[in-house]
Amino acid sequence: MKPVQIALDGPSGSGKSTMARRISQELGFYYIDTGALYRAVGLFVKRCGVDPSDEAAVSAALSNCEVRFDFQNGVQRTMLKGEDVSGEIRTPEVSQLASRVSAFSAVRALLLDTQRTFAGGNSVIMDGRDIGTTVLPDAAIKIFLTASAEDRAMRRFQELAARGEKTDYETVLREQRERDSRDENREISPLRRADDAILVDTTGLSLEEGYQKLRGVIDSCLEELACGENSCFIS
Ligand code: C5P
Repeated sequence: MKPVQIALDGPSGSGKSTMARRISQELGFYYIDTGALYRAVGLFVKRCGVDPSDEAAVSAALSNCEVRFDFQNGVQRTMLKGEDVSGEIRTPEVSQLASRVSAFSAVRALLLDTQRTFAGGNSVIMDGRDIGTTVLPDAAIKIFLTASAEDRAMRRFQELAARGEKTDYETVLREQRERDSRDENREISPLRRADDAILVDTTGLSLEEGYQKLRGVIDSCLEELACGENSCFIS
């Protein structure tokens, strides 16, 4: 079976991780959440007490930062210096820190190999901001998943509320706009749709409807690949 790489990019709150996780289970692919790696660096910076806006200080501190991911029963665990931080990185504070430090070239360089090495030999669906443009530019399938800022913020708000986080919709929307703007406007690997990525817009759709739309696109791409000259990944 020839490994297939699916690059799934899009702004925060577009439902990438929830949908990618489900697709990976259904297709038997690995799901790689690359945002978790940036979040781990954000948590590292917080723990070190380094100013997240000071690029030189963050870059210098990285020599002591070891981030990797492990798979336990097929599920990604994010490890910071050997410690499983998968739960601790899911706070709004770490989201903002991740978004800040992800603009620094030293941070992106630190995480690039980890992402590429794993994807190399496996069938993966990898979600992030620059997977189709930078991490896996040769991925067989590239998708840019998006929805209106309001829809995305509402989903994120409901997710945080369900987890018992104290927040409100307006704050989530404001923080999301800040993150979108930083992700889209940074110099290195900004968030953008790769030229050959398929756009999937889930504005106005429920999570299930959005999922079905995305799944339909992926299924047609897989069918096309299976019929292609060099493919033989469906047994
Ligand atoms: O996807 P998630 O919201 O967990 O990502 C956290 C932050 O990490 C994003 O706001 C973005 O700044 C950064 N990120 C990135 N490149 C990726 C994945 C995430 O810059 N491939």
